[in-house]
Parts: sequence; structure tokens; C-alpha cells
Amino acid sequence: YGVLYLCPTPIGNLEDITLRVLKTLKEVDIIAAEDTRQTLKLLNHFDIKKPLTSYHEHNKRTKGVKLIEELKKGKSIALVTDAGTPAISDPGEDLVKLCIEEDIKVVSLPGPTAAITALVASGLNTSSFVFEGFLPTKNKEREERLNRISKEERTVILYEAPHRLKETLHELKSYVAERKIVIARELTKIHEEFIKGTIDEVLTKLGDEIKGEIVLIIEGAQKQQVEEKPEILIQKYLAEGMDK
Ligand code: SAM
Repeated sequence: YGVLYLCPTPIGNLEDITLRVLKTLKEVDIIAAEDTRQTLKLLNHFDIKKPLTSYHEHNKRTKGVKLIEELKKGKSIALVTDAGTPAISDPGEDLVKLCIEEDIKVVSLPGPTAAITALVASGLNTSSFVFEGFLPTKNKEREERLNRISKEERTVILYEAPHRLKETLHELKSYVAERKIVIARELTKIHEEFIKGTIDEVLTKLGDEIKGEIVLIIEGAQKQQVEEKPEILIQKYLAEGMDK
């Protein structure tokens, strides 16, 4: 069987591509890309010529089967997405699962991903964190997710579209009121910036029009905040009662 290589691509600065990703892109038989036009630009920049095929959210079922067939014939495939690490809020997860089911080797190449690039420079706790990707848009699921985040003691990393950021921040106020947040905008690009503070402070610092790509990081909840919840107070009370 061939091998599936997961190849991270730059999230802005083209110099962030790794030597190993370049070598792999040159050596594989096929490159499967989320958006072939986008990837073609990258390949042209690095002077790489390879057969390209699309693998995205809308064709992943049928194309996944075809790619598996190619891998079984012994072809090696590099999977790339528009930016960052494949399978992180990107198509890729399903293809990896298929490969594992079919005993096809998957090689994960390390490289850029917006979530970690933002987290490590945020100044928030990095020893324990949770990646939530994009918040669900459906009301019920969204509320459940926000409730979970309000109790979450680990640092929370979210992706958000610029035109939805303000609305999301206003919505988040009732869930994470006084916790610190960090907006990492346009990472690795000319206008990269980190905006830090409480939600109100950040909203004041943000201009009217928010452009570019955004990672939103939220400080974890304080321990006592969670312990003050009625069911936990009852548990504590019962435990203490039993000791006496
Ligand atoms: N697979 C990618 C990764 O590894 O980061 C994420 C893909 S997801 C479809 C795209 C989202 O990632 C954007 O909406 C934004 O939230 C975040 N993102 C990507 N590039 C970014 C950048 N340069 N600065 C800030 N956020 C970025």
C-alpha cells in the first residue's frame, strides 16, 4: 500500500512551510487539496508540479473511496488544506479514519496550525487547554457548547469568522463575564496582532470593522466559580456531614 502524508501549509507567511513538507510534496504521486486553485498557487511558488485532485467537505465521501483505491494500488498521497494542519477544522479527519480502517499508513508531518500559534503567545495557561474549533451555529448546540465553556477550567481555543466576532463576544459575555480573553488576528501576516483583556475591554479596543482571520482564546474558569455551583455545594456539604 501507499502512504497518506498529512502536510500542513502556511497560515499566512509562506516561509512557514517545512523542508519536509516541501520534500514530501515533490515526492508523492498525488496531492489531494481542499481547494486545488489555492494549492496550485502554493505549488507554483515552490516550483512543484504534481497531479492535483480535490478533497473537500462536499466530495469527501466519494473522493475518499477513490483516494483509498489509489493508496491500495501503491500510490502515495499528500493531503493539504487551504491553510494550516489538515484535519484541524478542515477536511481530513474522515480520510485518516478510512486509511486506518483499511490498514493504510498515515504519516503526520508537523507544521503550522493557527490554534497553537495563537495559544503559545496568548499569555494564558498553556499547560492544559481545549480546542473547540468553530462554535456550532444551531441554537441548541451553541448554547450547550457555551454552557460547557462557562464551566471549563482549561484555556479554551476557538476559531471565529471576523464578521461574526463582535456578536459572538457579546453573546459570550453572559458565560465568561470576567475571564480574560485574547484575540489573535492575522497570525504570521503583516498585520498580526494580539488584543487582550476582558470581553468589554477587547470590544472597546476592536475597531468598527474587523478584518482578517481570527483565533479567540478564553482563560479557563476559576476553580471556586465551578465549586459554587449548587450541586457541588450539596456534594461538599454531604461529604462534610459524613465526616462529623
Ligand atoms: N486547519 C487550519 C489550522 O490548522 O489552523 C484551520 C482551518 S479553519 C477552516 C480556518 C480558521 O483558522 C480561520 O477562520 C481562523 O479562525 C483560523 N486561522 C487560519 N489562519 C489564521 C491566521 N493566519 N490568523 C488567525 N487565525 C487563523
